[in-house]
Amino acid sequence: MNGRAFVGIGANLGDAVATVRQAILDIQRLSGTSVAAASSLYRSQPVDAAGPDFINAVVEIRTRLDPFELLSALQQLEADAGRERPYRNAPRTLDLDLLMHSDVVLQTPRLTLPHPRMRQRAFVLVPLAELAPELVSVHELDAVRDQRIDRLA
Ligand code: ADP
Ligand code: MG
Repeated sequence: MNGRAFVGIGANLGDAVATVRQAILDIQRLSGTSVAAASSLYRSQPVDAAGPDFINAVVEIRTRLDPFELLSALQQLEADAGRERPYRNAPRTLDLDLLMHSDVVLQTPRLTLPHPRMRQRAFVLVPLAELAPELVSVHELDAVRDQRIDRLA
């Protein structure tokens, strides 16, 4: 299978812009995977979390990895970036969320697809709409308009 998937990238510790750019390069280098398109970088206020602003982006990939293989690979990249999880929603060096993988719908303890919270988050919907406007409705964008998000120059 060569699936079309979307990955949400976020970072809010250290040099977050550099971390997000490096993550895009690292995703490109995953086995059986290539980056078809990358959104602009955005700055967003933490949602339900403390700490500095996040830098966010979304990438569209083509991958031969199945959803669980892809999640494992993304979690390895998070670990390589030195992410610690002292508490829920703690500031993180790198957060990689599997947003969608082809038309897969599943709900397991380890992986839910599509990502269960993506439609409530401006930092996902706005960059995703840049890449795939047909996947995001104006109604959904309107519902998150109170969440501050700025495209980086
Ligand atoms: P969040 O990204 O929601 O702020 P975490 O990254 O700390 O929180 O949580 C990730 C956990 O969620 C992982 O343990 C992972 O197994 C699980 N998970 C379930 N569905 C997904 C998904 N679609 N993408 C990434 N992680 C997921
Ligand atoms: Mg995550």
